[in-house]
Amino acid sequence: MTKVTEYISQANGKTLFSIEIIPPLKGQNINQLLDSVEPLMEFKPPFVDVTYHREEVIEKQLENGLIRRIPVRKRPGTVGICARLMERFKVDAVPHIICGGFTKEETEDMLIDLHYLGIDNVLVLRGDPEKSVGVFKPKEGGHCYASQLIEQVVNMNKGILLHEETQGYPTDFCIGTAGYPEKHLEAPDFDTDFNYFKAKIDAGADYIVTQMFFDNQKYFQFVERCRAEGITVPIIPGLKPLSTKKQLTVLPKIFHLDMPEELVKEVEKCETDTEVRQVGIEWGIQQSKELMAYGVPVLHFYTMGKSDNVMKIAREVF
Ligand code: FAD
Repeated sequence: MTKVTEYISQANGKTLFSIEIIPPLKGQNINQLLDSVEPLMEFKPPFVDVTYHREEVIEKQLENGLIRRIPVRKRPGTVGICARLMERFKVDAVPHIICGGFTKEETEDMLIDLHYLGIDNVLVLRGDPEKSVGVFKPKEGGHCYASQLIEQVVNMNKGILLHEETQGYPTDFCIGTAGYPEKHLEAPDFDTDFNYFKAKIDAGADYIVTQMFFDNQKYFQFVERCRAEGITVPIIPGLKPLSTKKQLTVLPKIFHLDMPEELVKEVEKCETDTEVRQVGIEWGIQQSKELMAYGVPVLHFYTMGKSDNVMKIAREVF
């Protein structure tokens, strides 16, 4: 399988198209997700990312009135979806692997499964906190930060396993990591966050995918800072077309980002979310064109399971 960084260097400066998809809720049909992705294949994404979601604790009342707390993975199936994507669309699938909910040993086993499946790209993340807890807590024996998980993958690429005394067959993972042009929401300030972010590159990350942003200046400043600090790996912008009025307040809160005033004004004029969706498409086209002119390696869209707006943007710019 081809690595994300190889696709980028083979493109010779041409901007590529890629998407991120989310596994369906447990019990739903996988074909719905695959069918929603199919129209986007027109734009020839060389790779498709599939997110990973840690378990959430649900509470069930027992007959005796006591409450039982059960950890449930609501969106399982990341690895299976990767296999289906590769088979049906002949694209490379990039599973996200997270620290949350995994011991190091479980992570090692998952990476071996991915290696056997011929998956050579992983996006390595700490993962979101459990919703019921609110702050990130690693599983006992698991990693606390993405940089530690990157170190584990780098070791596997050298044939170094956790507990085997003899050297194993080396994997060959291309490692992506997350970057935050507007700082990670938990970090006290941008510089502190940036230093921890840089540690992920120093640990061996091969490329960066950014958190969504709506103001391209934030991305440009982030790239300049990276280059000034000697970070030379590709920096892929992550884009999400705005689709509801509610997102104007929800997205800044969840992801710690600023909405440009011009976009806010346009959305506030809208009377329905259908109109907001159209504004989101127009903003996405403008953002994409400017990013392409800047020479970004890939435009990476967070599809959230819906493709019509991403289709309209891609049609205009690719
Ligand atoms: P880290 O790089 O580990 O950073 C987390 C926080 O800890 C930051 O505030 C950082 O400044 C701080 N920090 C880092 N190292 C140290 C240290 N040594 N000491 C003290 N503080 C430190 N979440 C999912 O659950 N599943 C997904 O599939 C998923 N996909 C994503 C894809 C992209 C492109 C992005 C941008 C995010 C994604 N997320 C996903 C969300 C991500 O998991 C969260 O943003 C998470 O809170 C941080 O992950 P990270 O890998 O950036 O963490």
